[in-house]
Amino acid sequence: MKKECEIVQDLLFGYQDGTLHTASKELVEKHIETCEECKSVYNDMKKDESKNKDEQHQEIEYLKKVKKKMSKKNKLLIIIGVILTIVILLNIGIVVYYYKEAGKIEIYLEDNITQEQIENIKSSISNIDEKAKIEYYSKEDSLNQMKEKFSDNQNLLSGYGGENNPLPAFLVVDTTIENAKKMESTLSLPEIKKICGTFDSNPYLFILSEVMINLQNN
Ligand SMILES: [Zn+2]
Repeated sequence: MKKECEIVQDLLFGYQDGTLHTASKELVEKHIETCEECKSVYNDMKKDESKNKDEQHQEIEYLKKVKKKMSKKNKLLIIIGVILTIVILLNIGIVVYYYKEAGKIEIYLEDNITQEQIENIKSSISNIDEKAKIEYYSKEDSLNQMKEKFSDNQNLLSGYGGENNPLPAFLVVDTTIENAKKMESTLSLPEIKKICGTFDSNPYLFILSEVMINLQNN
C-alpha cells in the first residue's frame, strides 16, 4: 500500500463523520477520485454505516411495538380492574341491602283480635328487639292497599268493605334478620294467623324478587 493510501484510509472515518479540516478533506476527496482501492474501502464503510442505520431503525421499531403491546396490556388490566371493582361494589350493595330489608316481617292477625292482644304482641316483639319498628295496618288499610294495586279494576273490589272485608289486619315489623327469625319461631299466639318473612332467601334471589315486584307495580 502506498504511503498516501495509508494516510487517506486513516482519515476516512473522520471524512465520513465530517470532522476533518478543509485541507485533509480535500486531500481525501482528490485521492479517492483517482485511487480505486481507497474508493472501494470508502464505499464499504458507507455500506456498513447504512446497514447499521437499518439495524438501529429495526431496533427502534421493535421497541415501539413492544411499547404498544404493553399499553394494550395495561388498558386490558385497567378494564378488568374496573369490572372487578363494579362487581365487588355491587355485591357489597346487595348484601347491605339484604341485611337492611330482609329483616322485615309481616304478621297477619285474626279478625276478632282485640286492641289489648295487639298491644300484647307488640310488647312481645319489643322484648326480642326493643329497636324494632312496628306499624299496624287495619283491615281497612289492607283493603285500601289492595285497591291501590288494582287501580285499573276498582270495581272488582267494590263489593268488599266494612263487614264484608276478607283481608286481614297486619303488623309490619322492621328488625334484623336474626331477630326476625326469632320472632317467627317464638311468636305463636292463637290471634296470629300467619307470619311472613323473606329472611331465609338467598340475597341475590331476594334482590331479584324485589326488582320483579317493583317492575310489576310500575
Ligand atoms: Zn489509495
